[in-house]
Amino acid sequence: MRLSQYFLPTLKDTPAEAQIASHRLMLRAGMVRQSSAGIYSWLPLGLRVLKKIEMVVREEQNAIGCHEVLMPTIQPADLWRKSGRYDDYGPEMLRFVDRHERDMLYGPTNEEQITEIFAEAVRSYRELPQMLYHIQWKFRDEVRPRFGVMRGREFLMKDAYSFDLDGAGARRSYNKMFVSYLKTYERLGLKAIPMAADTGPIGGDMSHEFLILADTGESEIACHRDFLEMSLINQSIDFDGDLQPIVDRFTGKYAATDEMRNLETEKALGEDLVTARGIEVGHIFNFGTKYSKPMGASVAGPDGQDVAVEMGSYGIGVSRLVGAIIEASHDENGVIWPDSVAPFQAGIINLKSGDGDCDNVCEDIYRKMRNLGVEVLYDDRDARAGAKFADADLIGLPWQIIVGPRGVKNGVVELKNRKSGDRDELSLEAAFSKISG
Ligand code: ATP
Ligand code: MG
Repeated sequence: MRLSQYFLPTLKDTPAEAQIASHRLMLRAGMVRQSSAGIYSWLPLGLRVLKKIEMVVREEQNAIGCHEVLMPTIQPADLWRKSGRYDDYGPEMLRFVDRHERDMLYGPTNEEQITEIFAEAVRSYRELPQMLYHIQWKFRDEVRPRFGVMRGREFLMKDAYSFDLDGAGARRSYNKMFVSYLKTYERLGLKAIPMAADTGPIGGDMSHEFLILADTGESEIACHRDFLEMSLINQSIDFDGDLQPIVDRFTGKYAATDEMRNLETEKALGEDLVTARGIEVGHIFNFGTKYSKPMGASVAGPDGQDVAVEMGSYGIGVSRLVGAIIEASHDENGVIWPDSVAPFQAGIINLKSGDGDCDNVCEDIYRKMRNLGVEVLYDDRDARAGAKFADADLIGLPWQIIVGPRGVKNGVVELKNRKSGDRDELSLEAAFSKISG
């Protein structure tokens, strides 16, 4: 992409309405613009990141045999009357009436919709287990939308749903999602810690929130220090095997959000205790037959008797993650994207656009990189070097290839790593091999 032809409305000044770094940087880097409170338009750079996150989430869901569907944003109220949630949900649900006087709503989540689809289609235990997900916009009329896309009213969520014959099956599905979430967040460059969450009237131990640590998080959390070092990277995982040992490893140590904290346990941990603030980036939940019973989602069991299926739901805040990743990875100059979600892998900065030699070298690099399949943003604007450097740091691409008259004469380029700040003079070939890792 040539920056001179791109749509990247960056801002020099810090927007006054933004209270936290990710919100400020997303506005300044031209990623989003607010439409009304908690509702945003995604501009090209922001949308690229959103799509990358979506893709990582999608790949990891597909990898555990969860099938993608796409359910509507608008749902009929009658569906929610069946589960009893139409009256329970409260003012967060946006309700309206269509031209035929039918009560409709903008879905805040999709348990009812998926349960209906499942109930109509599946009749026998032989068709179980089943896992389905979609990545779709939700609307919740939050009292206090704030922090940009972190607490929006319209937001993108991945929500998955599992259907099993019995509790043991439900546990297997839950464990698959649990481990898949750990992998997903690691691929996004995040350290997410699973924390036991309230299961309400359902009871049991199958509800976890996944939080990343950040000073601007909305919840006050506490956990064992060991979580900071725990990782699944380089571990090959057999999702059809027994995942309980991995789940046990990640749930065996203390980790709790505000309402679940236990001060006695925390005292006993002493030096091993970490308290911090956290951002909830996902929530998984087993709710047994809460929806399957009232909505008639049952299958014929092995003995011919009808049984209501055991269900779970599994959410990831896809649009919130854009903000959360920035909270976890930025400095005073701008965003520092992890490779996996960077809108482009590298930028080319032409320090002297209009200079024949510099232009030629840049064009050559631009062409070669595109041929290699590297996503690259070429700053070919007729602008001061200082402005180009500032924008490059602001939008946070992992690598910057800096081309100036002196380097061109000596047959080298300067390669800057956004994260470390290291700058090296290298031949083009050496720079390419560094970028492609
Ligand atoms: P929270 O406690 O933050 O209000 P929740 O418990 O209501 O979230 P869930 O219903 O568990 O959220 O939704 C799944 C995920 O969707 C959450 O873990 C979060 O990452 C994301 N999410 C929820 N509400 C919002 C919102 N208003 N804006 C952006 N993302 C959201
Ligand atoms: Mg939650």
